[in-house]
Amino acid sequence: MEDDKTIFSMIIDGEIPCHKVYEDDLVIAFLDINPFSTGHTLVVPKEASRTLDKLSDESSGALGRVLPRISRAILSATGAEEFNIIQNNGPNAFQSVFHVHFHIIPKLKDGRGLTFPFRSSPINHEEAEKLAESIRELLD
Ligand code: AMP
Repeated sequence: MEDDKTIFSMIIDGEIPCHKVYEDDLVIAFLDINPFSTGHTLVVPKEASRTLDKLSDESSGALGRVLPRISRAILSATGAEEFNIIQNNGPNAFQSVFHVHFHIIPKLKDGRGLTFPFRSSPINHEEAEKLAESIRELLD
């Protein structure tokens, strides 16, 4: 059912774990479980909106305020100097989790990052926890 609680709402409610890099009253950010590159992070409003066009101004503003800051910390933690932000809305536009989110994807010097066709590989949880901690510490 479309209105079932999404996996991101379960993360926000603390029902399932994540490698958290940032949280405030309106936004949470955590490492993607199937990253395109090391440091691939999802920035998610706590408001359970399916697509960006349905999101409140308050949550939109909160996302906009933290995206550059979280991007900076990810670049510092990974050594990347370039990155993509992608945001998918609807199943035909590659959305698979129906709770608004922005992907921050470092473009690493070895070429890993967003490529066409999309290629990802499963996260290494031990490395991920260290990386998430490093991004948290680098947030200014
Ligand atoms: P999208 O295709 O834009 O909807 O992206 C959804 C993203 O959520 C994918 O990149 C998944 O790898 C990621 N994802 C799904 N479940 C989890 C999870 N439990 N923790 C972290 N990332 C997840």
